[in-house]
This record gives sequence, C-alpha cells and structure tokens, in this order.
Amino acid sequence: MKFEYLVLIAVALAIWGFKQLMFEIGRRLRRNYYRNTYLKSEEWQRKRYVVLKRDNWKCVYCGARATQVHHKRYAKRNIGKEPIKWLVSICQSCHDKKHR
Ligand SMILES: [Zn+2]
Ligand SMILES: [Zn+2]
Repeated sequence: MKFEYLVLIAVALAIWGFKQLMFEIGRRLRRNYYRNTYLKSEEWQRKRYVVLKRDNWKCVYCGARATQVHHKRYAKRNIGKEPIKWLVSICQSCHDKKHR
C-alpha cells in the first residue's frame, strides 16, 4: 500500500474521531441545559401541568397517581419545543423502570 493511502486513512480517522467528540460534547451540553435550565423553567412547569391534566393525573402505564412527566421522545435540536403528544404522565415507579 502506498504511503499516501495510509496518510489519507489516518486523516479520515482523525476527522471521524473529532466529529464523535463534538457530538458527545454537544450531547452533554444539551443534557446539562435540559436538566439545569429547562426543567426549572416556568414554560416546562406549564407544559407539565397541561400533560398531567390531559391524562387526569394518572400514570399512562399502570393507572396509579402520576407525579411526573416522561418524554417519549426529545426534541434534540430545540429543547422545549417538543409537542405535548411526546409527553406522558407517569408515576415514580414506572418512571424509574423507564430510565433504568
Ligand atoms: Zn405507573
Ligand atoms: Zn422520563
């Protein structure tokens, strides 16, 4: 194999590794923002209330009293823009199971 090919492969691997790293950093930043800012915002409190009310404060999985709201999906690019239908009311124990 030519030396040039090896260099090309090394460069491609470096770019790939860099992209993976950026992706991981972005993911962590989004998660931190989500936990520290969004979940404490008034907007989220309002949305949470709407979801709990829609589901009659009942866990959609077992029917027990719901105390939390679970995301079935996340709006990755713009946190906080997830539609109400992606959110479900859930009780503590079902929620623990979902995230295990
Ligand atoms: Zn439940
Ligand atoms: Zn959840």
